[in-house]
Amino acid sequence: MTEEKLAKPIKKLIDLRVVIDPPRLTYSWYPLTMEQRAKELESWAQELEEFFRDHRSQDRVSINVEKVIEEVCNLCNSKWEPWVEDGITYCANCGIGIERSN
Ligand SMILES: [Zn+2]
Repeated sequence: MTEEKLAKPIKKLIDLRVVIDPPRLTYSWYPLTMEQRAKELESWAQELEEFFRDHRSQDRVSINVEKVIEEVCNLCNSKWEPWVEDGITYCANCGIGIERSN
């Protein structure tokens, strides 16, 4: 029996994003649709950019670094997508099997 390398899904940090939350989201926020909320936040973001440019005083804003973690194949590094054929699961990207059924 030869030792062969098998694929498996692993968690990998793939991206970092900086997320800035507005100081407050009031009750007036809740009846808005997602599209209206996007518009509100876009206009808030623009005001914030102007604030950074002008150094005017403004309510406290929190800035968070968000980790984007994705399940990837340990061998080919592609996003983990299992492919099952004849009872054997393979990585859909590199085609290497992960387990065998008897
Ligand atoms: Zn793979």
